[in-house]
Amino acid sequence: MLITNVRPWGGPSQDIEIRDGAIAALHPHEPGRATAGASVDGRGRLALPSFSDVHCHLDSTRIGLPFRPHTGAPGVWGLTMNDRAHWREDEWSVAERATYTLGRMIERGTTRVRSYAQIDADCGLERFEGVLAAKEAHADRCEVEIMAFPQAGLLREKGVPELMDEALSSGAAVVGGIDPCTLDRDPVRHLDILFGLAEKHQAPIDVHLHEPGHLGVFSVDLILERVRALGMAGKVTLSHAYELGAVDEATTRRLIEEFAELDISMATIAPAQQLHALPLAELTRAGVRVGLGEDGQRDFWSPYGNADMLDRTWQLAFTNRYRKDELIEHCVAVASRGGASILDPGLPRLSSVADRPALAVGDRADLLLVEGETVASAVMDRGEDRTVLHAGRVVADGLRLVG
Ligand SMILES: [Zn+2]
Repeated sequence: MLITNVRPWGGPSQDIEIRDGAIAALHPHEPGRATAGASVDGRGRLALPSFSDVHCHLDSTRIGLPFRPHTGAPGVWGLTMNDRAHWREDEWSVAERATYTLGRMIERGTTRVRSYAQIDADCGLERFEGVLAAKEAHADRCEVEIMAFPQAGLLREKGVPELMDEALSSGAAVVGGIDPCTLDRDPVRHLDILFGLAEKHQAPIDVHLHEPGHLGVFSVDLILERVRALGMAGKVTLSHAYELGAVDEATTRRLIEEFAELDISMATIAPAQQLHALPLAELTRAGVRVGLGEDGQRDFWSPYGNADMLDRTWQLAFTNRYRKDELIEHCVAVASRGGASILDPGLPRLSSVADRPALAVGDRADLLLVEGETVASAVMDRGEDRTVLHAGRVVADGLRLVG
């Protein structure tokens, strides 16, 4: 296949040859260049690596359904119970909702996903099975990794660790944890269950951490202790963790150093509290893998989210108060290859804030073609003229799935 007249990372116009799913050659653009295979007209658009959404909740989305006014009480427990009270009233099944939203995400440029699947005493494995169906429905367009996620805690209700174990034997690939102190109020037991499941299933761990300041740092220190003792370096992600930079400068420095040393990766959803988070550019400079995700989308937790990672990339730049092009482009690198290196640790990680990877000969052709004068302007404008490739095949064009 030949993609003609595109600008990799906003550089000069090129023709990209794709063979066996990978970039085989890059040539300066020549109008009328001949090809034996199919060709895609780039029309001068930017070529960027496609997005990796490392934190979304496909099991709770209501995208495509009528908008519902928000009814949740504040706090994690209030929102969890709001969802529990209403999710069975959704007009579509979990599988239908997850499949529809995943399709919209692909149409807008996402081809790698880590999705949460809530597991608790109320829903059992029902929501997990819905996400599994969505993964299968889009298997040719997107790689989906499912996390077994105890949204209502591991210990507050009976039978949750056993359900987690069952999900991990049935296609879940990641062990999820949540607020070991504030939700379960027994951080040692919570973490021992998580690390036990991870060892049994040889799976990575991803902990959803909303805990404030010192308490969040305390939970993280218990996690770091276990990563060291059990040799789990490179296998733990912290999601949210938006208060870890709020304590003091020495703690911020220490955490960044320890995350780099133990290869702890971080998934941000670009929250409003971003300024209390560990600083994004410092994390990259230290070699810590950081990815971006959309979290819940238009669900019983929140009305935000629209399945568009380019929008969320804008939000990442905005909540970090970035203005310089280099930093806005870095947000695109985080949203694409930063996340990819979390989902597939074999892929190279971002080496610096200026690193613009994944469009060289030999790289798998996971691409987003999108209109834009420069990469930073594309983030500001979020144009709709997009073509998405997954492993060298066009999977979406003009915000519609192909095939
Ligand atoms: Zn979340």
